[in-house]
Amino acid sequence: MGVLVVWQTLDEVRVEAAGCTRCRLAAGRTQVVWMDGDPESDLMFVGEAPGMNEDKLGRPFVGAAGKLLDQLLESIALDRSKCVICNVIKCRPPSNRNPEPDEIATCSPYLKAQIDFIKPAVIVTLGNFATRYILDRQLSITRVRGQIFRAFGAKVIPTLHPAAALHSGGVGSPQFALIRSDFDLISSELAKGRPAPPAPAPALPAPAAEAFVSQESLF
Ligand code: SF4
Repeated sequence: MGVLVVWQTLDEVRVEAAGCTRCRLAAGRTQVVWMDGDPESDLMFVGEAPGMNEDKLGRPFVGAAGKLLDQLLESIALDRSKCVICNVIKCRPPSNRNPEPDEIATCSPYLKAQIDFIKPAVIVTLGNFATRYILDRQLSITRVRGQIFRAFGAKVIPTLHPAAALHSGGVGSPQFALIRSDFDLISSELAKGRPAPPAPAPALPAPAAEAFVSQESLF
């Protein structure tokens, strides 16, 4: 972001984001789309960027893809009030184009702050962009969906973006069936709670005297 900002509360971050003009997407937005749901929740969904409806209403996932997400949540006895829903990018890219790498880099401190303050036990990444940002690798969502990773102190479960199911025929599509099965995994991992902290790295064995001598002879 170019400036070191130390936010004390999630609301401070929200207020700052609401007036943000740090990247070119500020010029075309109606409003910043911050997040939806309960910041006390253990479950966070991260999508890509707001679309037209989200930009208009100021809430993430309120269009057709959002309705599918609501349906998927209902299938595991949840709703928006029991999770957090947000995006990597907080302003709508023009014509719903993909976010550019520099836009992601500029906007991502807001998402990072959301994760830091909310501390979800389970982060569900919806689609390629969220998965790549959260796992910090150029992964393909079709290869990694339905698996459990670990990042930001949370279990990370990538799944397809609901828009992928919409574009393939909606609830009757194979894509929807894949997302639906991933939601069963989300539900069971949520029930298990927060991941255990990583075990400390094992101490390196002391080098044998003989090996140490022979290494020294290399220099
Ligand atoms: S997309 Fe993010 S960085 Fe760019 S103007 Fe919006 S809030 Fe700021």
